[in-house]
Amino acid sequence: MSRLPLLNLIFIQLLFIGCGGKDGTTNIDQESRTPDSEWVEDNATDEDASTIPKVAPFPQSGAAIVPAEPDPVVAQIETIYRPDDTRMQPDEYKLKELGINKYESKRLILFSDIDPDIAKTLPPVIDRAYESLVAYFGPPLPARSGADFQITGYLIKDRDRFVTAGLVPVNLPFFSHGQHRGQEFWMYEQEYDYYRRHLLIHEVTHCFMLIEPGLHPPMWYLEGMAELFATHRTLEDKIEFAVMPEDSKAYIGLSRIEMIQKEIAAGRMLNIDQVTNLGPAEFAASRSIPYAWSWAICKFLDRHPRYQSRFRELGQHLVGREFFRLAETLFEPDKSLLAAEWDQFARGIEYGWEFEANAFEIAGNDPVAFTDSLSIDVTASRSWQSSGRIVEAGVPYTITASRTVTLANAPKPWVSEPQGISIRYANGRPIGRLLVGVLVGDRNQKELIETPFEVHDCGNGDVIRFANRGQLMFSVNDFGSERSDNRGAYQVKVIPPTP
Ligand SMILES: [Zn+2]
Repeated sequence: MSRLPLLNLIFIQLLFIGCGGKDGTTNIDQESRTPDSEWVEDNATDEDASTIPKVAPFPQSGAAIVPAEPDPVVAQIETIYRPDDTRMQPDEYKLKELGINKYESKRLILFSDIDPDIAKTLPPVIDRAYESLVAYFGPPLPARSGADFQITGYLIKDRDRFVTAGLVPVNLPFFSHGQHRGQEFWMYEQEYDYYRRHLLIHEVTHCFMLIEPGLHPPMWYLEGMAELFATHRTLEDKIEFAVMPEDSKAYIGLSRIEMIQKEIAAGRMLNIDQVTNLGPAEFAASRSIPYAWSWAICKFLDRHPRYQSRFRELGQHLVGREFFRLAETLFEPDKSLLAAEWDQFARGIEYGWEFEANAFEIAGNDPVAFTDSLSIDVTASRSWQSSGRIVEAGVPYTITASRTVTLANAPKPWVSEPQGISIRYANGRPIGRLLVGVLVGDRNQKELIETPFEVHDCGNGDVIRFANRGQLMFSVNDFGSERSDNRGAYQVKVIPPTP
């Protein structure tokens, strides 16, 4: 496996986007090409990125003494508008004769030939999704006309009907699920209610994120964020976006979690560099799997307490080079820890993943070498916890554990000793079993490590020789969705080798 620098995506992604998606993308399951790749190709040149004028802040009225002369800088301020609205304006009465109805809300005009009782529920969903997108990314650029931001979607059951009506432009690339361009998108009717809304929100998210011309973020981010927002939960008359699915029943047709589980089981784990280097070729070749990985990395970074604020900063740079610079630098300080935590998340991903409880607990101070034996408590309600000690590779450490913990799993709580409960397994090991790990590498590790985290089964006690030098960690094995309500702690003693 190559050791690519973490988030080393600038040049590779520029290359992918620049030449992406016109041909050879017809097999993509989700969509036929990169988000607006044709458009990106025409526009995402270096000159465009550097010549995009910045929106200057409005002068504060009454905030300062009025200058005698007009400020030459202020005089040059000009508002940046979004591209003009070039959506088709079809005759809805003629369309009605063809069996295509119009449904409209503030943020969406939807033309569709599907069941009207279903179609009419969709525009209000997009009004809510728009609020969520604005809260995350900020409002879209204003229109020169002053018009509200609105998108037109074509939800197609019978393609011929839409072609006859002139609603499928001849230069629109082939698509098998959805396609978007400017403030318009096209998508086929879906079998499941959940997935119909999901794909609708996915396409709207693309329209929203790509409305401003210029150099756009790479595919893993554009597709991952479209998937992130599209993953929604409906509760009576409420709808929540960007949720972590809690079980498979409410998300029929999605299967992103199952896809990653299958990839892991088949030995196709992707590290962060590999996910952030997914480009049009992979999206074209692997059907929905790159979408699943892109969603997972965005979901992980967006919800993990350690990385959330940094990741959300990326969302403030949807145009220009700054996104790429930040993506490469923001996560530098704890690169090896991030690699290890991603590894744990991806390998253990499941419905209802608890991001806080599964975040590694790292000692505030730098870990130190063993000078004598160590006794610590390992809490059952948290994932991996640092011992505050460094272990050396290849030498024997004697580890013993005692006491009990309560694993608050349904249908009843289980009291476990450090050897675990062998009638229920999580990640291939009995729940409740004491695990020992090594966070490989130093805090200032520059290269991404192939195996960032080394895990050993420990149970009641064992003599363990680690393959790597690194920070010694402990965890009580459990499902990633059932950890937070566990109680108690094991008492663990570590005796280092005598020098
Ligand atoms: Zn997409």
